[in-house]
Amino acid sequence: MKYDYLIVGAGLAGSVMAERLASQLNKKVLVIEQRNHTGGNCHDYYDDAGILVHKYGPHYFRTNRKHVFEYLSQFTEWHHVYYRIKVMVDGKLVPLPINLDTVNALYGYNFSSDELKEFFDKHRTKITKITNSEDVIISKVGRDLYEKIYKAYTTKQWGLDPKDLDASVCGRVPVRTNRDSRYFTDKYQVMPKYGYHKMFEKILDHPNINIMLQTDSLK
Ligand SMILES: Cc1cc2nc3c(=O)[nH]c(=O)nc-3n(C[C@H](O)[C@H](O)[C@H](O)COP(=O)(O)OP(=O)(O)OC[C@H]3O[C@@H](n4cnc5c(N)ncnc54)[C@H](O)[C@@H]3O)c2cc1C
Repeated sequence: MKYDYLIVGAGLAGSVMAERLASQLNKKVLVIEQRNHTGGNCHDYYDDAGILVHKYGPHYFRTNRKHVFEYLSQFTEWHHVYYRIKVMVDGKLVPLPINLDTVNALYGYNFSSDELKEFFDKHRTKITKITNSEDVIISKVGRDLYEKIYKAYTTKQWGLDPKDLDASVCGRVPVRTNRDSRYFTDKYQVMPKYGYHKMFEKILDHPNINIMLQTDSLK
């Protein structure tokens, strides 16, 4: 087949671009992907016990944009979910993002929301120019909570010290002074009912799209 477009990478960006070119503009598209699967970092698979595993770390989908939700709904049904995450810190299971209950449980306080705001004000590090993920957190909650909750987790998750990560990475996780324990507050919070991989299969299932796996554009 002769192609109109070559797309490198079958993650969200490449797959959606391929689908749009194929279905809306009737273009012929070749997608090359260095890994042995599509889906990029969102890839998931069922293990031998039937457990759905997110190979590159947990991915939960959320958006406030109706058109994004409707677009992807062409390719999957959904589980509607709210993410409530607890982390084990100093032997205590506490909510993340940090909220009133997190601080009260960790330090044994009985703060109100206003008292928690004062606590953050007292402990935050004043930084005039925030340049990385460590800065963004210590400027909101102070170094102790940063060390307890963010540092090791972020380093494990991204394989980088938070100092070497853009401020937006940790900055997108809210810090709350109320008791809301939802991870995010977006209108649409969902997971593909049969996993991301099935969703990607459907996105890329078009006669104008061919995929070559295990093909590195740089080699
Ligand atoms: C641990 C972790 C957790 C995350 N959690 C969330 C989450 O919960 N919610 C959320 O919205 N986002 C999350 N993200 C971010 C999300 O994974 C990315 O925003 C999304 O995958 C970006 O899609 P992409 O297509 O731009 O890139 P990718 O998914 O990285 O896809 C790029 C693809 O290009 C391929 N590629 C690269 N170079 C070449 C080459 N030279 N030749 C051939 N192929 C190539 C790669 O193998 C890869 O498959 C998370 C990311 C990580 C790492």
